[in-house]
Amino acid sequence: MSLKSEEILSLFKETGALLEGHFLLTSGLHSNRYFQCARVLQYPWHAEALCRDLSEKLKDMKPDVVVSPAVGGIIVGQETARHLNVRSLFMEREEGRMILRRGFEIRPGEKVAVIEDVTTTGGSVREVMQAAGDSGGRIVAVGALVDRSGGRIDFGLPYRSLLRMEVATYQPDQCPLCRDSRPVKPGSRGLK
Ligand SMILES: [Zn+2]
Repeated sequence: MSLKSEEILSLFKETGALLEGHFLLTSGLHSNRYFQCARVLQYPWHAEALCRDLSEKLKDMKPDVVVSPAVGGIIVGQETARHLNVRSLFMEREEGRMILRRGFEIRPGEKVAVIEDVTTTGGSVREVMQAAGDSGGRIVAVGALVDRSGGRIDFGLPYRSLLRMEVATYQPDQCPLCRDSRPVKPGSRGLK
């Protein structure tokens, strides 16, 4: 049985994978929400349940292989691939470019699903799509646990996510949250 959206949302909140407050993002922007998927994925049974749902949303695309950007996409890619019963590869950044290392190969014509944990602008996913295409793969779909753009990203092919949420981001000098508090860096010590 698949999880309902509210169940997924509360799972993210309970495990601290979705934080609400006032955050300074690595981009320099301020935000009222922050996703750290690793915190829900640290529980293998949650990873299993979430990725089972994601695999259900992707199975009609019949991918032959799953490819994810390291590090964030690895666990989601692995678990989703397990449910789809296909190989799971990941790409790593080397000298600024996403590449397959470790002897990983995409065979010519293989149908590829690109899997990520959270998409914001979709930049890493696009890089993986490009590199997987250059390796001879045929990209058939993109999957993610969270679409943080609220559904605004267009990859030009089916994009399936479990949770869609528009997260407000602000330039520091225009941030309304700054009136009441100072932003905190997610992941820094002391942040619960
Ligand atoms: Zn602020």
